[in-house]
Amino acid sequence: MSECVFCKIAGGEIPAEFVYKDDKVFVIRDVNPQAPTHLLIVPVQHIVSAAEVDDPSLWSLLMGRAMEVARGMGLDGKRDDNGFRLVINTGIQGGQTVPHLHLHLLSGRNFGWPPG
Ligand code: 5GP
Ligand code: ZN
Repeated sequence: MSECVFCKIAGGEIPAEFVYKDDKVFVIRDVNPQAPTHLLIVPVQHIVSAAEVDDPSLWSLLMGRAMEVARGMGLDGKRDDNGFRLVINTGIQGGQTVPHLHLHLLSGRNFGWPPG
């Protein structure tokens, strides 16, 4: 049995607030949100990080789903108050804490640059 938290969420062993789910990708609310809206776009397949992606069509799946969800929430970046940020932390230095690939979709406040 997997010890991976996102594999456990995918398998229903750990509860999560699902925004979307199919057999390849799911979208959940982050348990420790860093913005008013903080979603995680996660492939069902266990892939450790962005650096481990061999099949570039996975990017299309994940980015496509992220944009579908963003559009569904009315986020288009065209008004001052509805931009968003997509983040993929990769590896220890990149700030990744869960070693199962995921995109963060954050919105609802102004974000600074450079990131911390
Ligand atoms: P990372 O630091 O790897 O880029 O992002 C991992 C994210 O997963 C963090 O924002 C963290 O709050 C979130 N997270 C960790 N454990 C859980 C969990 O059990 N449920 C949910 N919904 N999010 C989690
Ligand atoms: Zn996993």
